[in-house]
Amino acid sequence: MNQTGVMVVVSGFSGVGKGTIIKSLVSQYDNYALSISATSRMPRKGECDGVHYFFKTREQFEQMIQEKKLIEYAQYVNNYYGTPADYVFSQMEAGKDVILEIEVQGALQIKHKYPQAVLVFIAPPSAAELERRLVGRGTEPEETIRERLTQAARESYYMDRYDYIIVNDKLEHCVSQLHDLIQCQHDKCAYQQQFIEDMKDDLKIFLKGE
Ligand code: 5GP
Repeated sequence: MNQTGVMVVVSGFSGVGKGTIIKSLVSQYDNYALSISATSRMPRKGECDGVHYFFKTREQFEQMIQEKKLIEYAQYVNNYYGTPADYVFSQMEAGKDVILEIEVQGALQIKHKYPQAVLVFIAPPSAAELERRLVGRGTEPEETIRERLTQAARESYYMDRYDYIIVNDKLEHCVSQLHDLIQCQHDKCAYQQQFIEDMKDDLKIFLKGE
């Protein structure tokens, strides 16, 4: 069978726990590669260049756009974020399923350019629960929490453009749901073109002058 990896886009509201889900998925199974984005925002405490992001100046980022090095990019809270193409495609060719944790605008660009990509939206069980989780973190001022909820309200209008919604109620359940649905994608015809072509070729000898 053809072993091309699947391109997986994961989005979700700020505070929904998508980072934790992805970290757990990647550590439990070895068939995943996590795309590393480029960004023009400053590194936060503990973030390393080439691990969490490739940190760029706005000029360097704009040069990457011009040189068509990104498969998608977006501006989010006045900073650029984008996915470098090289790593994603080399990992997919090596058979890895590549996870892109990106926001909504980028996700829709991917869907347009690569219809075979699978788009997953991680949602909280309810809006009230999202608010509870954001407040419960206790790390942000009320003003920031309100901004995140406003952003979530805007993003909710795009949820139906995704292929799947996963509700983050229990972490382990969510991780296994995500894993199962990604693995199902391998059976889609779009990922089995080589297998189909080989089968057609091998069966050709049975076509009697058709
Ligand atoms: P943060 O600054 O909190 O790390 O990320 C802010 C937002 O940017 C998150 O929603 C994250 O998913 C999104 N993001 C991270 N990398 C990319 C990327 O390469 N492309 C796009 N479109 N969004 C990204």
